[in-house]
Amino acid sequence: MELTGSSASSWGRMGAHLMHSKHDARETTAAARRGFLQRFERQVDPDGTLSEAERKRRAEHALHAHMQQLASRSAIARSKRKTQPSAQLIPACPWCMAEKGERWKPGTTGRLCEAHKRALADQGEEV
Ligand SMILES: [Zn+2]
Repeated sequence: MELTGSSASSWGRMGAHLMHSKHDARETTAAARRGFLQRFERQVDPDGTLSEAERKRRAEHALHAHMQQLASRSAIARSKRKTQPSAQLIPACPWCMAEKGERWKPGTTGRLCEAHKRALADQGEEV
């Protein structure tokens, strides 16, 4: 069966409905946020010396910093994927493969290895 765009999104809706039928959205996010904040409260005030207001204020900032760090990290990862798609390819020198009698494989970079790059350059000078 072909999963068209509309049926894929209706599957997504069904999953969301299933989740919301079991949990109140505000409740789950609030609980997650509380747990998260507590983690940062311990981080900013490990000895419990600050006032509650100050601890909460600092924890909010630590949480924001953490979120921004996550966001920038994923932005960097996204831009890396965009700028170097060859990173996902398997490095393979076609010359080496030919020497080993291997066939060309899709999903490889097809770039000459350093040794063969030099060999080619040397040949170019001789000719
Ligand atoms: Zn090679």
